[in-house]
Amino acid sequence: MATVKVKHVDLPGSLSQRGLLLCLLLMVLALTTGCRQGVGHAGAVEQDVRELTVLYTNDEHGWMEGMQPGRGAAGLYRLWEEQENYRPDGAFLLLSGGDNWTGPAISTWVAGQSMVEVMNTMHYDASAVGNHEFDFGLDALAQRAREADYPYLSANTRWRDSDEVPVELGILPFVVTEVNDLKVGIIGLTTISTPRTTNPKHVAPLRFTDYEQALRTTVPRIRKEAPDLLFVIAHVCMAALEPLAEKVTDLHIDLMGGGHCNELTAQQVGATVLLGGGYHFTAYAKAHFRFDRTAGRILEAEFATNENTAGNQDPALVSMVAAWQEQFQDTLGEVLAWNEETIDFRDESFRQALIDSWLQWDSSADIAITNTGGVRSPLPAGQITLNDLVNVMPFENNIIALDLPGEAVRVALETGGRPLVAGLVQRGDNWILVASGEPLRDRQHYRVLVNSFMYDGGDNFHILREADPEGFDTGIHYRQPFVDLLSAMHTSSDDPLTLARLSGYAAP
Ligand SMILES: [Zn+2]
Repeated sequence: MATVKVKHVDLPGSLSQRGLLLCLLLMVLALTTGCRQGVGHAGAVEQDVRELTVLYTNDEHGWMEGMQPGRGAAGLYRLWEEQENYRPDGAFLLLSGGDNWTGPAISTWVAGQSMVEVMNTMHYDASAVGNHEFDFGLDALAQRAREADYPYLSANTRWRDSDEVPVELGILPFVVTEVNDLKVGIIGLTTISTPRTTNPKHVAPLRFTDYEQALRTTVPRIRKEAPDLLFVIAHVCMAALEPLAEKVTDLHIDLMGGGHCNELTAQQVGATVLLGGGYHFTAYAKAHFRFDRTAGRILEAEFATNENTAGNQDPALVSMVAAWQEQFQDTLGEVLAWNEETIDFRDESFRQALIDSWLQWDSSADIAITNTGGVRSPLPAGQITLNDLVNVMPFENNIIALDLPGEAVRVALETGGRPLVAGLVQRGDNWILVASGEPLRDRQHYRVLVNSFMYDGGDNFHILREADPEGFDTGIHYRQPFVDLLSAMHTSSDDPLTLARLSGYAAP
């Protein structure tokens, strides 16, 4: 329609002057092109008011099945249909603040593929790139982005060498989409903590640049496409997003969605609506805009949060989740290794191989510590399945990455209950770093991997959180590096696993 283009002519002057000029232009057009803007009896142009509702989630973390029955994707989608009158072809935008994939077993096991399928079925329109979207490596991220029917956005993720947004990976700085005859520009942002909050080696060729700077360089590019509304979806906590919104009021951003801190909130900073959609599909935030296309301005913005109340379920999503669960049951039975004879879980070299596998998984870490109590069952002879490894390491613990001074490491090893340690050996009274041969120094800082049970103070490891309250949950299960290591050894009935072979393979 011709009026869409006319409305975006970049006219100088104040809003009211621009409105007047637009009125005149539209009146001419109404006569010449037969467009829909009606001309009133008094000669004034009637308002052409369009509505748009944004439904917003973040930090879904793979929880398609729901943390509690009914509070997953199927329940949320049906709730949107029932309470928000959501229709995929209606005046809606479904947006996510990122961290879609890493989570409970199924989604992590398939590197987020299940969540992309679920979010496609829910008709998401865009997602920010969260730090955890890098957990499975850049190839997996690119593959997921290809599978997604919606774009993954981040304007501040850049290749180190070229300073370009890595579009080769399927990450776009922004997108302009059209809903209900409204053009909406959407810019993505990714937390600058990402190199610390995903596996650092995965993001080594990337850097995460200053949010404000990224917006100031991206907004003029997106304005060239003359969007009616401008949104930012940011995998950024409210503590950083609120001041950012204040700093960029001159960019006239209509909505900013957050993520990373699992916050559920709907508020306004100046004229910008700020949304946080909670976490794990347990809740969502929403904003409703009434936009006057004639005057080119928002008439009204309403915003709220809502809980996913485990009501009715969308049948298509219920069966999709069930199919993934079935497939995962098969995965649990998949043979990962062949073992010559039963290995006792109390065997020192077996335990050492378990914890050494963590440093193979994250080669940027100096030290890894887990508690002996987290290793519970022998490795059986013959076929070893994932199910067997679930028995060996049965707890729902994740690996937490810490930045610790050597002194705290020493205290943890001396006061914590029965630690298993990799990257350090004891010589007399001293701890020596295996990689460098240097002694552990009290004041020097080290990257240390522990499990979430210990970080929460279990087995008397309180010193860990005290020494680094900002410990980072990698989202990776404490069993996973050992699972990966066993798979990588490619054992078979002809060429089986032995304890000696395992120790040799796992040793740094
Ligand atoms: Zn995050």
